[in-house]
Amino acid sequence: MKFKSTRDGQEEVSFQEALFKGLAPDGGLYHPVTFADLKDDFNAFNEKTDFNSIAETITHRLLGDELKEESAKSIVKRAFDFFPKVNRVSDQLSILELFHGPSSAFKDFGACFMAAAMEEFLAKENKRIIILVATSGDTGSAVARAFHGKKNIDVVILYPSGRVSLLQEKQLTTLGGNVTALEVAGAFDDCQRLVKEAFLDRTLNEKLILTSANSINLGRLFPQSFYYIYGYAQIKERITDDFIFCVPSGNFGNLTAGIYAWKWGLPVTKFLAATNVNDVVPEYLETGIFKARPSKKTLSNAMDVGNPSNFERMKVLFNGKWHLMHEMVEGEAVTDAETLETMARLYKEKNLFIDPHTAVGYLSAERFLKTHSDKSMQIMVLSTAHPAKFLETVESATSAVPEMPENLKKAMELPKESVKTGNTLNDLSDFLLQKFGA
Ligand SMILES: *Cc1c(COP(=O)(O)O)cnc(C)c1O
Repeated sequence: MKFKSTRDGQEEVSFQEALFKGLAPDGGLYHPVTFADLKDDFNAFNEKTDFNSIAETITHRLLGDELKEESAKSIVKRAFDFFPKVNRVSDQLSILELFHGPSSAFKDFGACFMAAAMEEFLAKENKRIIILVATSGDTGSAVARAFHGKKNIDVVILYPSGRVSLLQEKQLTTLGGNVTALEVAGAFDDCQRLVKEAFLDRTLNEKLILTSANSINLGRLFPQSFYYIYGYAQIKERITDDFIFCVPSGNFGNLTAGIYAWKWGLPVTKFLAATNVNDVVPEYLETGIFKARPSKKTLSNAMDVGNPSNFERMKVLFNGKWHLMHEMVEGEAVTDAETLETMARLYKEKNLFIDPHTAVGYLSAERFLKTHSDKSMQIMVLSTAHPAKFLETVESATSAVPEMPENLKKAMELPKESVKTGNTLNDLSDFLLQKFGA
């Protein structure tokens, strides 16, 4: 499998190159040049097929030209000691729970695979790298957990001091080992700017190998396709007609990975793109006009995105044609009030806690079912975070408290360790050179 930029650049690169470069030299995102046909594999999978064997098969099929079968197996084994679960909520609707990983959110799937793949390639080259990430809270914890203890990799996470929740801070600052949390005196924008400046600084890059791990990295996107395939395999016996995935979306990486699986031959009829009031993509799907705008703050804050970065990939997947995307992807937007109502109703009627992001997806799926009377339709909602990660919102909606998963409980008990720093490139350079400079 080869990859090239979503923009003008025609150079084709390997997975390894796309993984370590992150962004293409022309500023575009890497995307697959061609799509293999994996229908035979999809036919062979069923509800007894475990997640790791699906991940191994797909990795080996698609990246076999650069990863031997043992390498593919080893990456998958080191990446995933957690799995998705399907929760059948009604005859036609099921929830694909993606929050059983180390940071209790779906981003664990992408981050853990990326970390294991980098470790595998670095071992062959005997190189050491530093992963530099800015976080406003959530992404950082998935990345930190994924890279924790990986050989030949150090991780530096920049987060804005006093501007992340207690649980988020604990998740970032209690790992130790090869993970350092830099507590920056400033806002998230300062953290992002510092990381960008560091990547451009000549002195730093002569002395250290700095690498990014952000959500546009293909190494994070690619493995997210595995759980669509797994979700399908889990309920394929019940699929007689239309099969739809509903995806709570912000930057649209998750949805893009689903479209990859469909391009490889997964029998999906349609994708529902569920957003909060930041509805740039649903609006585009309705009108054909893409209007980026500043994001609005909502309860499903990981989806507060006004200019989704992966839209560039989605456009390429449909040859830039609105009507082709419109045929395959339908949009739906949900307000905060509706999000809370949905969470409350699900708890009351089914004794089920869902987080605000999942609630956006759930309500969108219900609406879709209501407007389509076809009783054989199956719809699967991706559940992107554990309800306990958004305790306050869940509590205010349901007047009840969901049980915390063990990993979050443990993080809350450990002492915080961070390095406080200013918000100039000099501050960051001093820290990096002192800690990692030869
Ligand atoms: C990141 C995130 C999303 C949005 O995913 P995208 O791939 O950016 O569309 C949804 N829910 C949660 C909980 C997230 O952390």
